[in-house]
Amino acid sequence: RPTPLVAGNWKMNMLSADGRALAAAVAAGAGSIAAELAVCPPAPLLPVVGDALTGSTVALGAQDCHAEASGAHTGDVAAVLLADLGCRYAIVGHSERRQDHDEGDEQVAAKAAAAAAAGLVAIVCVGETLDQYKAGEGVAVVERQIAGSIPAGASPDRLVIAYEPVWAIGSGLVPTNDDIRAVHGAIRARLAERFGDDAHGIRILYGGSVKPGNATEILAIENVDGALVGGASLKAADFLAIGAAA
Ligand code: 13P
Repeated sequence: RPTPLVAGNWKMNMLSADGRALAAAVAAGAGSIAAELAVCPPAPLLPVVGDALTGSTVALGAQDCHAEASGAHTGDVAAVLLADLGCRYAIVGHSERRQDHDEGDEQVAAKAAAAAAAGLVAIVCVGETLDQYKAGEGVAVVERQIAGSIPAGASPDRLVIAYEPVWAIGSGLVPTNDDIRAVHGAIRARLAERFGDDAHGIRILYGGSVKPGNATEILAIENVDGALVGGASLKAADFLAIGAAA
């Protein structure tokens, strides 16, 4: 089993002072945790948070990147700049980006490729909506997103997958253990078709209402190699407790 990864997606939260304090508190508590920890602040906070993480084992990650290496893309952020600022990870294809910015699988794959080309590890997000879940289409939707969102020629050591059911994000709802096992198993099988034995080293994170109280149970499920944490990553004690459960 690969070393688990617990990544905190701060989303559009935190100002510079509280972001620095949160990162420092995570860094201070990370020493006793076996899992790899990462924090993904808003892009303008990357230098401040990176500074607060100096000398710690906690990795820095971004929440998005552009698909092009550079150029006339006002307001966007290049993956090479993220790498330059000390990022190890870039989340791509989060459902909030897919919804708010109309991102499709093809664009997500292009972003993952740009991240890898810049030396980052892409955390590629997939997950079904509530309607798709109710219709029993969850596994099929996720398999389609996996097929379309991982770029051609992807290197398995530059890739993490995050399964985040859209209806579980920020809702307090979590799929059953059997549901999570089925989707993660299907993702592993599709990765194995594509990457052979190397697929076993690719971490498949679960995300969606992960809290200290449910983390141990979720992280014990087969093929769950860590968590992508939203709300609970904004409190150092909660985030560290989830990290300790991995
Ligand atoms: P919550 O943990 O707040 O449900 O968010 C999950 C998520 O979207 C992480 O990327």
